[in-house]
Amino acid sequence: MKFGGTSVGSVEAVKHVIQITRDSIGRGQRVVHVASALSGATNQLLQAASLAAQGDREGLEVVAAELEARHKDMAAALILDRAVAAEVMDEVRHLLTAFVNWVSAIHILGEATPRVLDMIACLGERMSIRLLAGALAAAGIQAQPVESAGLIITDNNFQAARPDMEATRAACQQQLLPMIDDGIIPVITGFMSSTPAGTITTLGRGGSDYSAAILGVSLDAEEVWIWTDVDGVMSADPRRVPAAYTIPSLSFKEVAELAYFGARVLHPRTIRPVIEAGIAIRVLNTFNSSHPGTVITTNGQKPVGVIKAVTTIDRQQLITIEGRGMLGVPGVAARAFGAVAETETNVILISQASSEQSISFSISSEATARVVNALERMFAAEIERRDIDRVWSSGLTTIVTVVGAGMRETPGVAGKVLSALGHARVNVIAIAQGSSEAAISMVVQDEDAGKAVRCIHETILEG
Ligand code: ADP
Ligand code: ASP
Ligand code: MG
Repeated sequence: MKFGGTSVGSVEAVKHVIQITRDSIGRGQRVVHVASALSGATNQLLQAASLAAQGDREGLEVVAAELEARHKDMAAALILDRAVAAEVMDEVRHLLTAFVNWVSAIHILGEATPRVLDMIACLGERMSIRLLAGALAAAGIQAQPVESAGLIITDNNFQAARPDMEATRAACQQQLLPMIDDGIIPVITGFMSSTPAGTITTLGRGGSDYSAAILGVSLDAEEVWIWTDVDGVMSADPRRVPAAYTIPSLSFKEVAELAYFGARVLHPRTIRPVIEAGIAIRVLNTFNSSHPGTVITTNGQKPVGVIKAVTTIDRQQLITIEGRGMLGVPGVAARAFGAVAETETNVILISQASSEQSISFSISSEATARVVNALERMFAAEIERRDIDRVWSSGLTTIVTVVGAGMRETPGVAGKVLSALGHARVNVIAIAQGSSEAAISMVVQDEDAGKAVRCIHETILEG
């Protein structure tokens, strides 16, 4: 069971977690917990580090004091035994001291390396597991905090480390099974991992879902349950579309597209290892635990309904390489994406006009300057010869994606979506269809995104 930031972020939330754990034990389940940092904590930690790298350490002590107070208030309310609460807080304070020291070092050096940022980023989880395990123990449930350095073993690709599943399985079986056999619930840090040598890494933002998946597979779990703050995977982001509803079941393909195209309810890398191992994933609401939520299973049940959800990725920009001289010249695309890859930028979507006079692709706006720069350098000779007229970036855009495996057998889906957008007077800048045919994406102007999502939801998903 993985509990997200809001699910461990308040006294009320942790009381729900305690009840959920009791219910699970009552059903005779052997359970392992994975916890996120308290909601907002990871952002606070990383923001302090990034400000320090820019020469500003003023807010550092304030952040440390805030985090200390928040954990302390929760510990006081959840762990009535004063001595135990004090023990938890000693460890929290110890971690916050490390935080202040590391960020001070960043401030002095004027630089934050990905390696140090990972050490700082996972401090939130290292604090929250102590609080949660203490609260469970105070409620009479045997639980023990477990840090996942040395448990989830990865390469040294900091900030998005990739697990070595074999080494991880061995470590998990060795360290966790004896605890579970003794009736103790391990409360494990999400997000955090380490190299074989013990250097701290993380699995990327939102990576606690991925931690749960990796641990589930390594322990041969029957199911992986992701506890969050909404009733499962929904037809749209409920913050954006109030009429969004829960999708009772989703295929692997559908949920993979949904996660990739912006539904942050599940980290995109979570799904594959679990499904490959034949383990079901459930997405459930900590604050409404009797709701059945969403189940994601391997066995390809016949898709019900054509379009199941609409998602968005905002703050994108479309980069276009344009020129008549590109016509039929082989290798332009390869060189273009080679240059983009050199900048370590993730290309979310590609669309090429059939005339071959332009290639467009969508990237996060934060990367636009360096990508345009790299392309201009790569094609300097072609630009000089006028074979390529220009490399340019659009204004801010949003990728709107409709997802549903049933689209494969159903003609006219794209038409229906586009005409809905037409009626709402939303201009579509580019279109791309995923090769799995479980998704169609449209690029629209940022300011049209809300309207686009609501009109698709209203006319197709509610219809
Ligand atoms: P956690 O901290 O539990 O991991 P996240 O904030 O990462 O929670 O993810 C849950 C949030 O994802 C929800 O509160 C919701 O606003 C957002 N979300 C976006 N798209 C969807 C969707 N299609 N279904 C459910 N939630 C979504
Ligand atoms: N706390 C981490 C983050 O905010 C990981 C997670 O919550 O999944 O990115
Ligand atoms: Mg999350």
